[in-house]
Amino acid sequence: MSDRVIKTDVILIGAGIMSATLGTLLKELKPEWEIKVFEGLEKAGEESSNEWNNAGTGHSALCELNYTSEKSDGSIDIKKAININEQFHLSRQFWSYLVDRKLIQNPQDFIMPIPHMSMVQGSNNVNFLKKRYEALSKNLLFKGMEFTEDPKKLMEWFPLIMEGRTDNEPIAATKVEYGTDVNFGALTRMLIDHLESKGVEINYKHSVYDVKRTKEGLWQVKVNDLVGCKAKYYESKFVFLGAGGGSLELLQKSGIPEGKHIGGFPVSGLFMVCKNQEVVEKHHAKVYGKAKVGAPPMSVPHLDTRFIDNKKSLLFGPFAGFSPKFLKTGSNMDLISTVKPHNITTLLAAGVKEMALTKYLIQQVLLSKEQRMEELREFIPNAESDDWDIVVAGQRVQVIKDTEAGGKGTLQFGTEVVSAADGSIAALLGASPGASTAVHVMLQVMNKCFPQEMKAWEPKIKEMIPSYGKSLLENPDLYEKVFTSTSETLGLAKKEEVHS
Ligand SMILES: Cc1cc2nc3c(=O)[nH]c(=O)nc-3n(C[C@H](O)[C@H](O)[C@H](O)COP(=O)(O)OP(=O)(O)OC[C@H]3O[C@@H](n4cnc5c(N)ncnc54)[C@H](O)[C@@H]3O)c2cc1C
Repeated sequence: MSDRVIKTDVILIGAGIMSATLGTLLKELKPEWEIKVFEGLEKAGEESSNEWNNAGTGHSALCELNYTSEKSDGSIDIKKAININEQFHLSRQFWSYLVDRKLIQNPQDFIMPIPHMSMVQGSNNVNFLKKRYEALSKNLLFKGMEFTEDPKKLMEWFPLIMEGRTDNEPIAATKVEYGTDVNFGALTRMLIDHLESKGVEINYKHSVYDVKRTKEGLWQVKVNDLVGCKAKYYESKFVFLGAGGGSLELLQKSGIPEGKHIGGFPVSGLFMVCKNQEVVEKHHAKVYGKAKVGAPPMSVPHLDTRFIDNKKSLLFGPFAGFSPKFLKTGSNMDLISTVKPHNITTLLAAGVKEMALTKYLIQQVLLSKEQRMEELREFIPNAESDDWDIVVAGQRVQVIKDTEAGGKGTLQFGTEVVSAADGSIAALLGASPGASTAVHVMLQVMNKCFPQEMKAWEPKIKEMIPSYGKSLLENPDLYEKVFTSTSETLGLAKKEEVHS
């Protein structure tokens, strides 16, 4: 072991959207703290946060049908949709603050307005969508949502989806004009560049392989410098494991009791990308469908207009699949190396419970391109194979843990912040709703890890995020204010276009 241990105030492991967001928040709140970032790859935002590795939807429950469930009495539960919508508004406010202060520039390089639509077929699904529309459109946060079953209107909304449709199945859709497409890769790179300009040391090609508590109660982080081919040692009072799929293994290495009895289940993803620009130009929306029976929520099919590198693109997917890797650039040993004596019964219980899901994911991996085209043709009946290529997306590691509601080995589809009781280390696990709610999730990390400082930080947090600590739904004036100002700063759909 090297005898030189470098001390710092904060260590962020991984240069994805989560570490980038936490680092930016902390730098605004405590500029004097020294922060170091360690990233195994040669650039920031290359794993799940990369623009080609996720769908870039600014998740605010405007179109995602899995955020609204049907209750046993037939009514629609919109609680989750409201939460996610409110959380996305925290992100919009923080990004606007950064743009306003010129800490990041050119918002159109990371966020673009795009209508969000939901589309369903079959009378049961149409009934569901209608009830969902009735429940949401009355709500302030979803004001302006439209519903139609009229084929002419549907043809106006999404001609690509309607042309060549020969079946007589009822079809319906909802539309919200003020949805967004977010390039989380570009945003991550902007935030990391900003941090670097403020003196934060960003160490690329530095892979963290161990995290241990020292006798003094600090965290010692062992880093493999992949260029210098040597081990380096750092110590700090606070460590954030923002390593995406790599966080679980590091959490286990930290040995904190809160990290025990937790496992990870990797779900891989593929998109189809359209290479015919004429087809791309015919579509202008994110259109979310309904997941097939037995399919996990993250495989809800959607046809997305995307803005990547200032070019309009069209992607369809994701097709879920199984791979033992926890990161796209990970190893086939990732899954097995996180099986420990303390989580093996949890994992085995999940294995038994989720047999159907595993079978589904393996079947998905084995689909040929033509079989994938058939799924795409459920959206675009006239889709031509030659117009579409397959791109491999990121890995999502779903959390498996024992819960009161689900019992032993329950698969979780949300994100989880796991932290030590003293708040000295925190990890982010899981991937949904994901990058869109990065600001909300990092505020959660700060609440857990810096409870003393949060009181003093509150005025500055409220300057950055005016609705912090308040419900927008319960404060309609504040909602109108933040909606209008963030739309203006970020160049998004204006209030009068939206709420008229
Ligand atoms: C197919 C797919 C579609 C998605 N669609 C959406 C969407 O539409 N909207 C949305 O909001 N979210 C979406 N998400 C989720 C979103 O992409 C993630 O929640 C988010 O990018 C996670 O960010 P992160 O910073 O935690 O992880 P990452 O971006 O994966 O960053 C982690 C970083 O840590 C590094 N790292 C790992 N291990 C180590 C180590 N030991 N040492 C040093 N560095 C390490 C990695 O190289 C990586 O750069 C999607 C995800 C997938 C996979």
